[in-house]
Amino acid sequence: MSDVTVDIEDVKADSDHVMVDVHGVHKSFGPLEVLRGVDLRVRAGEVTVILGPSGSGKSTLLRTINHLEKVNSGWISIDGELIGYRRSGGKLHELKEKDVLKQRTHIGFVFQNFNLFPHLTVLENLVEAPVSALRRPRGPSEEKARRLLDRVGLAEKTDAYPRQLSGGQQQRVAIARALALEPKVLLFDEPTSALDPELVGEVLDVIKDLAGTGTTMIVVTHEIGFAREVADTVVFMDGGVVVEQGPPAAVLDAPRHERTRAFLSKVL
Ligand code: ADP
Ligand code: MG
Repeated sequence: MSDVTVDIEDVKADSDHVMVDVHGVHKSFGPLEVLRGVDLRVRAGEVTVILGPSGSGKSTLLRTINHLEKVNSGWISIDGELIGYRRSGGKLHELKEKDVLKQRTHIGFVFQNFNLFPHLTVLENLVEAPVSALRRPRGPSEEKARRLLDRVGLAEKTDAYPRQLSGGQQQRVAIARALALEPKVLLFDEPTSALDPELVGEVLDVIKDLAGTGTTMIVVTHEIGFAREVADTVVFMDGGVVVEQGPPAAVLDAPRHERTRAFLSKVL
């Protein structure tokens, strides 16, 4: 187990409003430094869209937020709680796997490729984690699962298996499954990139609805129209750093950096 010394005096600062706080995060894979000092703050109830070219470190950043990847330096907190570490005597000590898993239940993750359990029905996909990870009673968990499936427009599919659903339906199930754990924040890694074009809209509509109900979200996507309409903040990453960030109108329509302009000219 590795211990790291870091300055975490302001971990709790603004924790009444800041839900996700990424502070000076560096991450390398061997000699390759993929995150080169990333700072990011997401306020409760806000939607942050991350844009950036392939290889810029977007997925790695999301994976560090729920501690699927360990950082080399810096720290991350969710709702004022350090992720992956506890502080003691000015040092950070890695949490035990079981405590990391517990923290992860507060962080919903929606992947590009849905990652549903293929051998479980839609309903069971939603009930599995609340019952086995959180030890919630089955009856209320099923009721909640049905409500969530209704919310994403899939009330009729409770007994279907993932292979019987379209990609758009599978992704909506994945979103409902993430919500079943009542996460403090939902992370989306290119949630529509694996979908046929005609199915993208139904998934974006579900995410848009969630934004309207005050769910805190970080969405990595290339859907600029969605960013413009739904994001409170647009973050442009390149080469493992945040190049610029701000309201959609500023970053998308009047980017200050050449790298942002070059990227947007390719995707718009
Ligand atoms: P993005 O999501 O913006 O496309 P990634 O975060 O997936 O970027 O990747 C950033 C860089 O890190 C890429 O060069 C990628 O090859 C590298 N990388 C990502 N994960 C690993 C890993 N587990 N081992 C080695 N290199 C990795
Ligand atoms: Mg990626």
